[in-house]
Amino acid sequence: MKLHNFSAGPSVLPREVMHQASEAVNELDNSKLSLIEISHRSKAFIDIMDEACERALILTGLKNKGYKALFLQGGASLQFLMVAYNLLQNKAGYLNTGTWSDKAIKEAKLFGEVVEISSSKDKNYNYIPKNYSIPLDLDYLHLTTNNTIFGTQYKSIPEINTPLIADMSSDIFSRNFDYSKFDLFYAGAQKNMGPAGTTLVIFKESILGKVSRTIPSMLNYQIQANKDSMFNTPPVFAVYTSMLNMRWIEAQGGINSIGKKNAAKAELIYGEIDRNSRFEGFAIHEDRSDMNATFNLTDPSLAQNFDELCQAAGISGIKGHRSVGGYRASMYNALPIESVEVLVECMQVLEKKY
Ligand SMILES: *Cc1c(COP(=O)(O)O)cnc(C)c1O
Repeated sequence: MKLHNFSAGPSVLPREVMHQASEAVNELDNSKLSLIEISHRSKAFIDIMDEACERALILTGLKNKGYKALFLQGGASLQFLMVAYNLLQNKAGYLNTGTWSDKAIKEAKLFGEVVEISSSKDKNYNYIPKNYSIPLDLDYLHLTTNNTIFGTQYKSIPEINTPLIADMSSDIFSRNFDYSKFDLFYAGAQKNMGPAGTTLVIFKESILGKVSRTIPSMLNYQIQANKDSMFNTPPVFAVYTSMLNMRWIEAQGGINSIGKKNAAKAELIYGEIDRNSRFEGFAIHEDRSDMNATFNLTDPSLAQNFDELCQAAGISGIKGHRSVGGYRASMYNALPIESVEVLVECMQVLEKKY
């Protein structure tokens, strides 16, 4: 029996995927070799990389639509830099919805003018800004679709005429929407896709080649694309496990069906947060994330009691991020609804007992 893993990242992966990944570390597909001791130039691994990229495009509905998928290294944090390096010629707009957007802004400023189009910092990022105007001369607009730390999520994607870029690290493959609204999006694997060590980047090929600076090879999307993510040795285990997870998502009925399950989990936890007099939500209702539910005790002196109840029930990883406090239940694709039921029960026991 494993714990109910509500960790924000690295985080829960499907049991089957963990099992297959560990088998492959032992021996890859009866090859008498381990996944992590074969050449990345071998046919076996090239097939894995191709399948991973292809599945990412299929899941997001972008296959044969002029998009390219890459598996790079350096985490989402390196994408903060690479996006601007490759795409910011004069001026870019950023929507600031918390820590990660803030870090993306900081890196982009190294390359050009950055306009903070809107920010929810005034309320410690407990909402998604909605009324703002976008200058017409931006190279791109960048947003963070799901704010892992604060528990907010864009429910709809802004309709704009500017190239749109998104950090989807914590909600990639979690719901069905029109991914073609984005010119580029990226996601560190370790939240909702696989183990740490690789970052999925998907972009419209036509957006490249518009900046005049020289870009170092490793940070150059065009070079990485020409080499199909193999400019240098890729993180083979992370790519393989992410690929297995994409197979798993497909076996679950694809993003559409996963999205419904995620919505059901979110409804369950938020329903209890709103019903239970001992708890209150952090993010405003309309912007609540289906992935990371942030909430607090109405009486903080009950923290120890609640923590003990959770621990006894086998719940792990619900401590809130230090910039919000309280609790955060991360409910990524692989978290079963049963785990949420156990958490809700602990919340109910707390209310009855204390
Ligand atoms: C975790 C996270 C990051 C940072 O990812 P790394 O892979 O550690 O660089 C960036 N953006 C979001 C939204 C995240 O949740």
